[in-house]
This record gives sequence, structure tokens and C-alpha cells, in this order.
Amino acid sequence: MSSAPRSDNFRLRKIPRYDLILIGAGPCGLAAASEFKHAGLNYLHLESGQLAQTVYNFPTNIRLFSHPRYLEIGNVGFYPEPYEPPTREQYLEYLNKASSRLGLVVKQHSKVVGLTSNDKDHLVRYTKKRGKIGEACAPNIVVASGGYYAPQLLGIPGEDQPNVYHYFRSELPFHNERVLVVGGRNSAIEAVITLVEKKAEVIHSYRGARLPRKKIKPWLLPIFDKARKRGLIRTFYRTVPRSIHNKQVKLKSDGKKNTTIDVDRVFLLTGYGPDYATLKSASVPFNKRNQRPLFNPKTLETKKSGIFLCGTIVLKWQGEKASIDNTRGHGKIILNNLR
Ligand SMILES: Cc1cc2nc3c(=O)[nH]c(=O)nc-3n(C[C@H](O)[C@H](O)[C@H](O)COP(=O)(O)OP(=O)(O)OC[C@H]3O[C@@H](n4cnc5c(N)ncnc54)[C@H](O)[C@@H]3O)c2cc1C
Repeated sequence: MSSAPRSDNFRLRKIPRYDLILIGAGPCGLAAASEFKHAGLNYLHLESGQLAQTVYNFPTNIRLFSHPRYLEIGNVGFYPEPYEPPTREQYLEYLNKASSRLGLVVKQHSKVVGLTSNDKDHLVRYTKKRGKIGEACAPNIVVASGGYYAPQLLGIPGEDQPNVYHYFRSELPFHNERVLVVGGRNSAIEAVITLVEKKAEVIHSYRGARLPRKKIKPWLLPIFDKARKRGLIRTFYRTVPRSIHNKQVKLKSDGKKNTTIDVDRVFLLTGYGPDYATLKSASVPFNKRNQRPLFNPKTLETKKSGIFLCGTIVLKWQGEKASIDNTRGHGKIILNNLR
């Protein structure tokens, strides 16, 4: 009898075995799935939320920045093609239709909570209904869990209160409400503009002395500037929230006196990043300097054999910031380098 620990004997334990397990069903995961399906692979596709959960989390009616042609998956045309970049709603509809057209099967609400390996296979553990845990193994794991999936938390008290949000929700009733928006990039500026339009009393906190204007969608800036000039936005720059208690937010000020403000809702739109928990549970080596997983850009394989990165989780691709446009073709590269 083998002396290997029980968890290493995936085959002996009759765990379902696939050619490949794909983690994450965002645009890039779906595009990769279409490649794997087309190649006739026996693969399992796990998604922690619903199909395209990250896009679903975008603010309602937000307009993406890419032309529809650069957002397509599996050669399914974006018809009727919007002339300008699609809204979140148009893109979600497209992704749903394209997935059906391509016959992609995604196991939704199945969050991967662990990844371990023996010398042949990797074992994935994922959540199932009623608190149960499912298991599956494969020689190849493709991690397409997104580069902008997890909100970057501030780690302050009150961040998890029900009136504190990490994604903007434009459908909420803001009329006569006092709303604090924290952040200085697109999500925050877009939220401020929408709140002004919805006649909320808007307070804007940003940690810098002035906005990083070059990093903001150019068509947003004139609208923002005009509203600010008209006194419709109360700004607290060089401040960061320190705590939130019910409807009171303490802002720590750089150089000036700290401030406490009364608000109805708070949007902490301070950026999104990857969740590396799955890669870390598999002991994938990370770069000590920038804390990013090490991988070969020619094959997309990490330093752990048979574990691949796919989509925006790579964060940078060919010298540019990773986006749907430049990383949705990762499935093809991975296909040529499978174990
Ligand atoms: C507000 C906002 C607006 C953006 N606008 C644009 C835009 O206009 N154009 C553009 O190109 N990019 C945009 N991006 C950036 C990025 O391209 C998108 O986030 C895009 O969705 C990334 O695609 P992806 O498939 O790599 O990852 P994601 O779409 O993030 O998909 C990852 C999927 O993995 C799932 N997942 C995560 N962890 C697990 C786990 N442990 N187990 C199972 N599943 C898991 C998630 O639920 C998610 O569905 C935007 C990002 C944000 C946050």
C-alpha cells in the first residue's frame, strides 16, 4: 500500500478527473473555455458567482472603454453592434448569448477554496450548495479569476456596514441623501457625476492633493469640473477615511485638522485587484518584490507545473495594462502548452 498521505491519492479516492479545470467565468475565462471546448478537451469550469460576476458588479449603465469588437469571445459577433463601447447591460447580454451560442457549461456559485497537488494532478476544492465541498482533479489548472475582481479594502472599522459599498449602485434612491464617495479614479469620478445628476448631496474624499487626471476617462473630466465649479461637489482632498460608525465618517486629513462628517451612504471606490488566494493555496511561487505570481509569458504557465494564468489576472500584458481586449486570447496560448 502507498505511504502517500490520503489527500495525495486523488485517483484512489475516485475524485472526478478532467483534462483541465478552469477557474473563473469572466470574459477571458469564457473566451478560454470556447478554445478548450473547440479542442475537444474534457474540462470543468468553476465560477464563484454568476457568469461574468465582475462585469455584473460594474455600476449599472456604466459604459466600458473598449470598442465592442475587442470585447467579443469565441468569434461570436457583437450584434446588433453598438457604435460606441457597450454599456454594462449590453455587454452582460452579449456574454450570456455568446456563452449559450458556444454551448459553454459553467458551474456557477462554485467558489474554489483550495488547490493542492501531487506529482501528476492538482486537486481543486470548491463550494457547493448547503455548505458542502466538491472535489475535482486535473493535470492542468487555468486560473482566470480576474485582475480587478476583489475590492481593495481600506481595513478600517465600519467598512462592512450595510450603508457602505465597494461597487457603485446607481439604482439606489439617492434623492435628498448625503453621500460620500472615496477615491480618485474612473469608478469614483463616474459615481460622483451620477450622484450629482441624481440630486444627492455629494461629498468627495481623495487621498491626493489633486486628481490623477491622465488616468481618468477624458469625457468624464469636463462634467466633473463643471459640477465642482457650480459647488455641487464638496471636496475633501488629502484625506482618507479612518473609521465609519453608522452615519458618521472620520476623515484623517494630511496636514489639516481631522474631520467628522455625517452621511447616509458611503462608496469606498478605492480600486480593485486580484484575489491570489487560490494560487497561494497551491504554493505557486511569487515575486518577492512586487508580490505577483511568477509565470512564463510565452506559455502563461506559473512556476508550478500545470498551473496557468489566464486573462487580466496577469495585470500587465506585453507592456500594457491587462484588459479584456489584450488578454482574451490567452486560452489559445495555454492550449498549446498543456501537460
Ligand atoms: C468598474 C470596472 C470597470 C471596468 N471597465 C473595463 C472596460 O471598460 N474595458 C476593459 O477591457 N476592462 C474593464 N475593466 C477591467 C477588466 O478588464 C474587467 O474587470 C474584466 O472583467 C476582466 O476580465 P477577466 O475575465 O480577466 O476577469 P473577471 O471578469 O474579473 O472574471 C473573473 C471571474 O472569476 C471569478 N472568481 C474569482 N475568484 C474565484 C474563485 N476562487 N473560484 C471561482 N471563481 C472565481 C469571479 O467571480 C469572476 O467572475 C473594468 C474593471 C472594473 C472593476
